[in-house]
Amino acid sequence: MRIARFSIDGNVAFGAVEGEGPDGLVLDIIKGIPYAEFELSGTKVPLNKVRLLPPVLPNKVVAIGRNYAEHAAELGNEVPDVPVAFFKPTTSVIGSGDAIEYPSFSNELHHEAELAVVIGRMCREVPRERVKDVVFGYTCANDVTARDVQKREKQWARAKGFDTSCPLGPWVETDLDPHDLTIQATVNGEQRQLGRTSDMIRSIEDLVVHITEAMTLLPGDVILTGTPAGVGPLHVGDEVAVTIEGIGTLTNKVIKRG
Ligand code: MG
Repeated sequence: MRIARFSIDGNVAFGAVEGEGPDGLVLDIIKGIPYAEFELSGTKVPLNKVRLLPPVLPNKVVAIGRNYAEHAAELGNEVPDVPVAFFKPTTSVIGSGDAIEYPSFSNELHHEAELAVVIGRMCREVPRERVKDVVFGYTCANDVTARDVQKREKQWARAKGFDTSCPLGPWVETDLDPHDLTIQATVNGEQRQLGRTSDMIRSIEDLVVHITEAMTLLPGDVILTGTPAGVGPLHVGDEVAVTIEGIGTLTNKVIKRG
């Protein structure tokens, strides 16, 4: 099931996305919150009449760096012995259709298309064989990065944590085998990144085990699993789209911060 979060007439709700193709999609509004038991209300609204919001409101976004060998190499980095983990703050999260604001302190903004794992239940010290039980679903992410700032500053809090640097969406797909999906990024319709999730160095299972060894994950928390090769610049006015097989397309325009 594809679960979107949206606003219509000032009200915010979750809905199950039904139908195929951009014109035929409707949302069946969900009663309650989708991580627990929920029912579909039967009340339907056309997708093109709502504003999509980030599909989850995470308590935290834990991101993994350098998880595809070709991407590590393109930036001149070694594949790390242990996964590189960092946070993106909740204030960095935006939805599909929202604008990425080019930060004033950077001259080199990059896109990074990533598969995002959405957690469905509170968990800690998750054993590998239980990982599937704590995952709610998957969505597309863009780990937007001020590359010059990342190189200049030892920690990545500003380079990867500025407002609007974490587009997520368009919705969460709950019924998906994530292990071998195409993942791509286009800028103004031109392909920049193309990879397969099977090329991840550490699998989703490895990452959930590694992260929950240290911290509790809560329903709605998000793990970004790293980006394939082909990262490149974004400029004001560009439209960047991240598409993952079986999920959909996350689209955002880059604007100057007002
Ligand atoms: Mg990344």
